Amino acid sequence: MPKANLRLLHSPSGLFHKAECSVCGERFYVLPEVMEFKEDLVKQFDAHLHNQHRRQWDASQKKNERIADESRRSQPVNE
Ligand SMILES: [Zn+2]
Repeated sequence: MPKANLRLLHSPSGLFHKAECSVCGERFYVLPEVMEFKEDLVKQFDAHLHNQHRRQWDASQKKNERIADESRRSQPVNE
């Protein structure tokens, strides 16, 4: 299954910052005056993953848990 990625779209004549989902082509828009538009797009994309690509979202959650788990386990144990 292809992995969904956030793909920034460049449209010099467009009014909005735009991005799309690389798998289903869903578009995300952020108003042009928003300076943190990338963070905004990432947030929208995150919600999109949660709603439309739940398996990928679940997998990324598990991966984050595993990383947290491993860093806990790598703590020195005094026994
Ligand atoms: Zn999508």
